[in-house]
Amino acid sequence: MSTTVVAIDGPAGAGKSSVAALLARRLGFTHVNTGSLYRAVALAVRRAGAAIDPVEPAFLDTLRITFEGNRLLLDGRDPGEALRSAACAADASLVAKQPAVRSFLLPVQREIAASQWIVMEGRDIGTVVFPDALVKIFLTASSLVRAQRRMAQGEVPPGATLDEVRREIERRDLQDSTRAAAPLKAAPDAVTVDNSDLSLEETVETIAAIVEAKRSKEG
Ligand code: C5P
Repeated sequence: MSTTVVAIDGPAGAGKSSVAALLARRLGFTHVNTGSLYRAVALAVRRAGAAIDPVEPAFLDTLRITFEGNRLLLDGRDPGEALRSAACAADASLVAKQPAVRSFLLPVQREIAASQWIVMEGRDIGTVVFPDALVKIFLTASSLVRAQRRMAQGEVPPGATLDEVRREIERRDLQDSTRAAAPLKAAPDAVTVDNSDLSLEETVETIAAIVEAKRSKEG
């Protein structure tokens, strides 16, 4: 029996968050962005002035990351916009390669799906977190298109050029896909959707059709 999860994995800037949010609303599922978990660990480390690479196991023991609906709480508080900065993204990539951090976050992610239907986005949802997900999507786009989207969203350092943003995206892709712990890759049974030439609505439409076909097949 497949779990009640639609897994959306893929590189930074492929539009996972926007797609997952709209898809979840359309299907009536809860949307969970797992990148925010890694960002929250990184933010907590920086706020405490603790070591980031590696994060001390004793520090992880003090961390409390919970969900209220689909809202992430760090020690009971919503960290808000602090999670979205470019610095936090770079720090998140540093903590995400550490097996101790990944094992710490695994039960947090599995628990969310225990009682509800979810669209969960990340890098290893279909490969590690929910290998038996109902549907697995690997969402990708060219690095140029992804850089253009990041610029349009303003999620870049002040004054950054398109070429710099594209190179930073490629650097992160390389770091995420070559790390030993849960590297970014498509699960063998994932459907790859390249949305370089698709609008947000067309991407959601494409994935919703895949989910609906699978659900009707499973009865
Ligand atoms: O998707 P987002 O940019 O918020 O992810 C931040 C970092 O967290 C990424 O660079 C990636 O290394 C890491 N991540 C991960 N596994 C996930 C989600 C995010 O390793 N499931």
